[in-house]
Amino acid sequence: MTVQDICQSMETWAPLSWQESYDNAGLLCGSRNQTITGVLISLDCTEAVVQEAIEKGCNLIVAHHPIVFKGLKSLTGKDYVERTMILAIKHDIAIYASHTNLDHAPQGVSYHLAQKLGLVNGKVLRPFQQSLKQLTYFVPSDAAAQTREAIHAAGAGQIGNYTDCSFSQTGIGRFTPNEFANPTIGSAKKPEEVQEDQVQVIFPAHLERGILAALLQSHPYEEVSYFVTHLDNTWQEVGSGYVAELPQAMDSNQFSTYLKDKLGLNHFRHTSWLGKSIKRIAVCGGAGSFLLQDAIRAGADVFISGDFKYHEFFDAENHCTICDIGHYESEVMIKDAIHAYLSNNFSTFAVLKSMTNSNPVSYA
Ligand SMILES: [Zn+2]
Repeated sequence: MTVQDICQSMETWAPLSWQESYDNAGLLCGSRNQTITGVLISLDCTEAVVQEAIEKGCNLIVAHHPIVFKGLKSLTGKDYVERTMILAIKHDIAIYASHTNLDHAPQGVSYHLAQKLGLVNGKVLRPFQQSLKQLTYFVPSDAAAQTREAIHAAGAGQIGNYTDCSFSQTGIGRFTPNEFANPTIGSAKKPEEVQEDQVQVIFPAHLERGILAALLQSHPYEEVSYFVTHLDNTWQEVGSGYVAELPQAMDSNQFSTYLKDKLGLNHFRHTSWLGKSIKRIAVCGGAGSFLLQDAIRAGADVFISGDFKYHEFFDAENHCTICDIGHYESEVMIKDAIHAYLSNNFSTFAVLKSMTNSNPVSYA
């Protein structure tokens, strides 16, 4: 198994095209062809984490936060980012980050925060737009099934809990091959009419190349007639944050204890309790203040996230209670999820969770 195998596996879960434009997820250093000796999973990739990887014989670190976030113009070791990179490169350790793409992925960071809190009946808080496309193509009716099978295998028509979804209607296709053509049906310079199916499928935009390759390969024609359409549809399983429900309603005292117990917190910051019972909970791992209005619109009694600034707390007004539990505390559980995912998919090398506490924030 190589570094590339792990990258591919991680990107099946969280495609890089789902990351925010400011982000830098993906393979940050190391060769894709390097054989894996072991994988170390951490929330942050710091010098201490690289040192741990060296000691444990792991030559790939899979982290949530990209250690290189802005461009590097030199590599002299003048700050912790450069020292971390130099240490990793010296010891042939590859670093891979799955960041905002993993925030957005189904069963990503916020989903796992909700799981850790024991929430039920959940869904994505702000589903993605423009991550789906539609493919329409024309195929002789007797070859339609083979093309549908091929594009479904490449990921078309698989949305939510439904697979192999398509719509087709039958009509007449017309064409005239020229003298250089090698037509499957018909002959040069003779107008042809063929019974064809028009097939339509929706697909995740990041799978377009593979789906079109599968179509062209399985289609009997020399020239395949198809078109791809951009869609504004939302994709319910992909997007930011998560909203779900407590197994039973609680008052603010019960909820406060529950939250601390479930996440092992000593304390958290919050706006005033609203004096009503708490049942519906919105969450966002990391810095989630941008989702406050979505949480309010979703009817959340409480919004749990991290990194709220003083003035942002005012925005809760009397609509919901903000609970700022800390950036690290709201995301650290993703280590377990990445560990479970990679351990399930690979068995020929060790997949370890980092024991380094990379949280730069301490509480006195
Ligand atoms: Zn984060």
